[in-house]
Amino acid sequence: MLFDPHVHTEGLGLSDLKKMRECGITHICDLYFYPIKPLFPQTLIDGFRKLREFEKFRCSLADLKMIPAVGIHPRSIPPDYATVLNFLGSNDWDAFGEIGLEIASKEEIDVFEKQLKLAMEKDVPCIIHTPGKNKREITIKTLEILDKLNFPEELAVIDHVNFENLDLVAKRGFWIGLTVQEGKLTKEEAVGIVEEIGEVKCILNSDAGFGNNVLTTVAETAKLLGDKAKKVCFENAKKFLRV
Ligand SMILES: [Zn+2]
Repeated sequence: MLFDPHVHTEGLGLSDLKKMRECGITHICDLYFYPIKPLFPQTLIDGFRKLREFEKFRCSLADLKMIPAVGIHPRSIPPDYATVLNFLGSNDWDAFGEIGLEIASKEEIDVFEKQLKLAMEKDVPCIIHTPGKNKREITIKTLEILDKLNFPEELAVIDHVNFENLDLVAKRGFWIGLTVQEGKLTKEEAVGIVEEIGEVKCILNSDAGFGNNVLTTVAETAKLLGDKAKKVCFENAKKFLRV
């Protein structure tokens, strides 16, 4: 059994989902992301509903257990985002994600902080994005915000960690998301990181979906990880997402 806890199924066909299942993935966390800047807050609200209902249904057709994660991604903040925050606050959720900072603008910071506060109130695990650009600088800012709020470490995964920000995250208690995908980490790099810092906090994912759709990276890396795969490719994600 394998868990891929960072997937965007909206960018995948049913045959792709079946391919994931065939390579041994049994569980996924499906993250909401709207690929262009929304003109209306309601776009996201309907998107969250679609993820929870329709995408979950499609995953069930491929025999994948799907955990939906919703929230405002820093690259898709709509006007009047308070409407979306109210909707998030007045419903129950399995997870928030992906949320976080892209360039750390004032607006992004406000949206991120408000979602983190909701997560603390409602006890919801958060998948926190770190960007490709200025990763180190933005990770420092992200950790500052988490510290300012006294955010519980077991409630957050800092995702897309690579060699630019590994040292910052490794000394903390948050979960560490390692994305094995073109442009992020290679399989060998991910294995190297797990060997360096240990398997206790590491969670492997593919970020398959809208971009580089290599669906099998978690399964392939699991083979290289040997007996560490059980934790890094299944148990840690299961614990974090309370499946
Ligand atoms: Zn993603």
